[in-house]
Amino acid sequence: MISDAALAEFRAVAGPQGLVEDPDLIAPWLSDWRDKYHGRSVAMLVPRSTEQVAAMMRVALAHGIPLVPQGGNTSMVGGATPPADGSALILSMRAMNRIRSLDPAANLAVCEAGVILATLHEAAAAAGRRFPLSLGAKGSATIGGLISTNAGGTQVLRHGTMRALVEGIEAVLPNGEVHDGIAALKKDNRGYDLKQLLIGAEGTLGIVTAASLRLVPGIADRCVAWVGVEDPHKALALLRRMEASVGPVVEGFEVLPEDTVEFTLGVVPGTRRPIETRAPWHALIEIDLDAAAEGPSAQARMEAALADAFEAGLILDAALAANETQAESFWKIRESASEGERSQGPALQFDISVPIADMPRFMTEVAAACEARFPGTTAGSFGHLGDGNVHFHVRAPMAEGAETARAWIARHGEAATRFVNDAVVAAGGSISAEHGIGQMKIGEFARLAAPAQIHAVQAIKHAFDPGGLLNPGKLVPLAPVR
Ligand SMILES: Cc1cc2nc3c(=O)[nH]c(=O)nc-3n(C[C@H](O)[C@H](O)[C@H](O)COP(=O)(O)OP(=O)(O)OC[C@H]3O[C@@H](n4cnc5c(N)ncnc54)[C@H](O)[C@@H]3O)c2cc1C
Repeated sequence: MISDAALAEFRAVAGPQGLVEDPDLIAPWLSDWRDKYHGRSVAMLVPRSTEQVAAMMRVALAHGIPLVPQGGNTSMVGGATPPADGSALILSMRAMNRIRSLDPAANLAVCEAGVILATLHEAAAAAGRRFPLSLGAKGSATIGGLISTNAGGTQVLRHGTMRALVEGIEAVLPNGEVHDGIAALKKDNRGYDLKQLLIGAEGTLGIVTAASLRLVPGIADRCVAWVGVEDPHKALALLRRMEASVGPVVEGFEVLPEDTVEFTLGVVPGTRRPIETRAPWHALIEIDLDAAAEGPSAQARMEAALADAFEAGLILDAALAANETQAESFWKIRESASEGERSQGPALQFDISVPIADMPRFMTEVAAACEARFPGTTAGSFGHLGDGNVHFHVRAPMAEGAETARAWIARHGEAATRFVNDAVVAAGGSISAEHGIGQMKIGEFARLAAPAQIHAVQAIKHAFDPGGLLNPGKLVPLAPVR
């Protein structure tokens, strides 16, 4: 129960617009993107400066009130949804949305936590640079959320995850102190790296208020292709062959099965099938060159690589985007794949990684094994094959509609989840490649991670936040492990 006295103190530090108490304004932020988790929060804190965040943290500390940092609320694991008992307050970082500086010469942008990814893309492009991380939620996801989940997306192959792109972080720690690590230092060996600890911490160790982010030169020439392939084995062979022939300029390499493409075309207005062939699998490939690149154009490289792959029997059909609009429409299909899948009714979603060389086997064999073990289900995957990371979905039987599917998940969801996650662990993989643990995977994380890892996570959490005030119930398993 949050007392009136505590709310009055929050109001005092938050200013007139910094404490939202109207339930209608809070309501949209109480459920997660997948609508799986539903929380309560009697008020929502909306700071506008780092000092305000620190002051709010100190009030929370004084009254023992948990805070749930929230950015765009696009978490796939219920990471930003407050607890259902109303014991915590949402701390919305969306109003801290200033790009403090953007220096093309230094290839650096300093952004507040609430800057939306697409806004940074636009600002960087206007300066002839780009921030090389993109994902389907780019219109809502914020820099603070992307950092706190160590987001990946569609350009990891070439540029890495957020870990590789964050140069410095400013954050408020659970004791109310401000950690000023915003300077982008190439070398800094003052012991533990707080920046790296905060990246991927899912709001459990500190509140990210701003970050220095690495930019890269703008794209001078790009070519996007849609390719039909027989199976994921051939898709991976294609990627390896392309990397050998065109060098490290393959920026994106995504795969989708035919049914996901079909579902997506069905739900996203204005999308069209890029190739006529109904290939069993599809690959979306992007080659990017910056102004300094020498030699053949992106299109010439793509054409040569695909001709070679055709000769080698690796591809069935291919289409090159004729212009930017078409390139964007190819990407639109990939970026809407989650929506396409969602339109098919209730499903269990897994965001997994295994060693890349083993991924094609995993995608085909584990899907088949899952369907055999749970008759009536349809298992499949799509995503970042080049990173050894796919989104693996098990659609519940839909014979009698969504209600039976939901009932099936209620009865068999846990067993099916264990089945898939056990297969991931057996393959030496991770049950969370890019979405984090949140509240959705906390049980499986505790069940499957080595005790040494869980104990270290618990110890770090305790050292930073002994009162457990930041984002309780997420990421850190509370129960003793094995
Ligand atoms: C359609 C769609 C596609 C997606 N595709 C991808 C993908 O390809 N790759 C990928 O990695 N993710 C993907 N995601 C997941 C999601 O977009 C990322 O997790 C994103 O980083 C979340 O950003 P957000 O601002 O919405 O954070 P939120 O959802 O608000 O929060 C996410 C987590 O970060 C914490 N947090 C938020 N802001 C702060 C802050 N300032 N300080 C401390 N903690 C904070 C929250 O407490 C929570 O634990 C996708 C999501 C959707 C809906």
